[in-house]
Parts: sequence; structure tokens; C-alpha cells
Amino acid sequence: MKRVYNFSAGPSMLPLPVLEKAQKELVNYADSGMSVMELSHRSGLFTDIIQGAEQLLRGLMNIPDNYKVLFVQGGASQQFSSVPLNLLTNSKKADYVNTGSWSKKAIKEAKKYGDIRVIASSEDKNFSYIPEIDRSMIDPEADYVHITTNNTIEGTAFQNIPDTGDVPLVADMSSNILSEEVDVSKFGLIYAGAQKNIGPAGLTVVIIREDLIGRAPEDCPVMLDYKTHSESGSLYNTPPTFAIYMAKLVFEWLEELGGLKAIEEINRKKADMLYSYLEESKMFSSPVDKDSRSIMNIPFVSPSDELDAAFVKEAKAEGLETLKGHRSVGGMRASIYNAMPVEGVEALIQFMKKFEENHQ
Ligand SMILES: *Cc1c(COP(=O)(O)O)cnc(C)c1O
Repeated sequence: MKRVYNFSAGPSMLPLPVLEKAQKELVNYADSGMSVMELSHRSGLFTDIIQGAEQLLRGLMNIPDNYKVLFVQGGASQQFSSVPLNLLTNSKKADYVNTGSWSKKAIKEAKKYGDIRVIASSEDKNFSYIPEIDRSMIDPEADYVHITTNNTIEGTAFQNIPDTGDVPLVADMSSNILSEEVDVSKFGLIYAGAQKNIGPAGLTVVIIREDLIGRAPEDCPVMLDYKTHSESGSLYNTPPTFAIYMAKLVFEWLEELGGLKAIEEINRKKADMLYSYLEESKMFSSPVDKDSRSIMNIPFVSPSDELDAAFVKEAKAEGLETLKGHRSVGGMRASIYNAMPVEGVEALIQFMKKFEENHQ
């Protein structure tokens, strides 16, 4: 069986044991004579799947009881609208931190609904660092503060979660949820598209403090109102059933591995290996400030576009796929989410060394 090391930023690799389990259960799930895709979303078997997925996620992230977990659709991009529609309802002011392309999209969308202030930005240096945030920068009247904890395209990540006092902190955690331990109680709301660290595309996870539910105005579209999904146990309409089932398998895989503490250790090891090599390499380097580096998405550059193109092409021939950098940044990017094994990063570094020798 051919499997490559897929460094895609998303959709990205899934753990092989998860794919194999899904394959084994595909045509006859739990002796039902049906696949999960054919089960009614109101059936007992699917109820066990969705409730099981929620319980596993609560356990993994240690989610406090006063938070709801919602399984919705529309991707993280839909949350760019849902967040202001639901939360920008008191002072109609919110503070955003601009750390990259995804933050910019979130800001652009939120501006349709209220008075949006950008309190810090790293755009001056091509988003190569994370700006300092302290409480004095935050408007105490703001309905919320929004950050992107990991910047998938630029390869930066917040190393510390900013203290926003009584103002709820909202985080787009699409590309680093479940990659390390995190204190959920510091956030009012966390959202993440599934296709990076959770499961297949089509599912979006929202973790929301209960007091932030029910603030949307009457004219909020029903599917974008957190109350709709909270009151129905994410079953207001047909949810992405197969994606939720896959997410549950991923959560089980993570739990068996030892949870977020264990995966964080592995993730740090993988990232350290690649960053150390980039430090010593004469051809490749990281464009990101040392104190702001992501352990999930690692961009790197060579001295020329020609070398970049040759690198991506030759890597693919070696079974190292999707290493081309995002079109807005150029160069290369290795996304090394939870499902990327240590061996995949080792293989990449070996290949980079060989490439460097062959192209001196
Ligand atoms: C991938 C990504 C998005 C967009 O997610 P969709 O599910 O495609 O809408 C938004 N924010 C971040 C940080 C991402 O990594």
C-alpha cells in the first residue's frame, strides 16, 4: 500500500489507524448492516457517536462544565460571520489582533456588523511575528477580543494567551486545536475547522461559554445562532455525520496516545528537529521570528524561486507531498499536524540535506 507523507496545510493527513478503523467499519457499522453515512442522525447509534465525540473532546481539552461544545458546518470562515452576529450585540465594539491572512478575513467580515478596532498587527513585517498584547490595549467596553492562535499561512503562533480581563476572548484555533495543552477557561469562545487537526473537512467545532449563548438578535439567521445548535445538541438539522464519526475516531486515537500532554511533546520534538535543521542549513531558512514560531506550520525559503520549484518537484517524487508555500507567501511550508509522524519529519530533513548537497 502506498502512503505518502502529506505536508498539506488542510485538508491534511489523518492518522493511519483512524483510516483503517473507518475502512473496517465502513460497510457495516456496529452490526447495523449500514455505513455511518447511511445512519439516521436521530438513530441510537448516531446519538452514541455524537455524544461520544463530545465527551472525548471534553476529556482531551478538559473543557469546563459551563462550556458547550457545538458541531456545526460552514468552516472556520462561517465563524467569521457567526462570531460578530452573536456577540457584537452590546456595545457593538470589538477588538481584533491582525496576525495574518485569516485574521484579516475575520476582521473584514466583522466590520459589516459593528465598530471593529485592530489593536495590534504584524503586517508591517509581513506577519513574521506575534505582536505583544496587554490589557491596557483592550477597550473594557468591547464585546470581545479576537485572536488567531496559530497562523496557518505565515507560520506564527501565540506563545502565551493574552489576558483580556473581563472581555471575552474569542480564538480561531483552526490550525492548532488539540496540538498542545490549553486552558479553555481563558476563552469565551474557541472555533476550529476540522480539516487540520480534528478530522475531514465539513465539520466545524465551536466551544462556547454558556453566558455567551442567546445574545444574537431576532433577525440572526437561525443556522448562525449558537442558541440553535446549543438547544438541539447540534441536531437542529442534519449534521455532517460521517465527519463527526471520523472526529470521534481521531479523539480516541489521541486519548490512547496519552492525550494533549503526550501529543504536545511529540509535536514539539518534530518542530524542534525541523527548526534546528533550518538554523544550520546554508540553503534554507525560516522567515519567522524565533519567539513567534508555530509548531504546526513551518514555512521555509531558499535563495531563489527556481530552487523552490525544483525542491517541491523533487520532494514529491520522494513521497513528500504538498510542500509548496501558500501563494501569498511563496517558498515552502511543511504543515506537521498531529497525524504527521516523527518519521515524516525525519524523511523531510534527510531529503532537504540531500537537496542542499545536490544543488550547491
Ligand atoms: C484553514 C483556516 C481557516 C479557514 O477554514 P475553513 O474551514 O476553510 O473555512 C480559518 N482560519 C484558520 C486559522 C485556518 O487555518
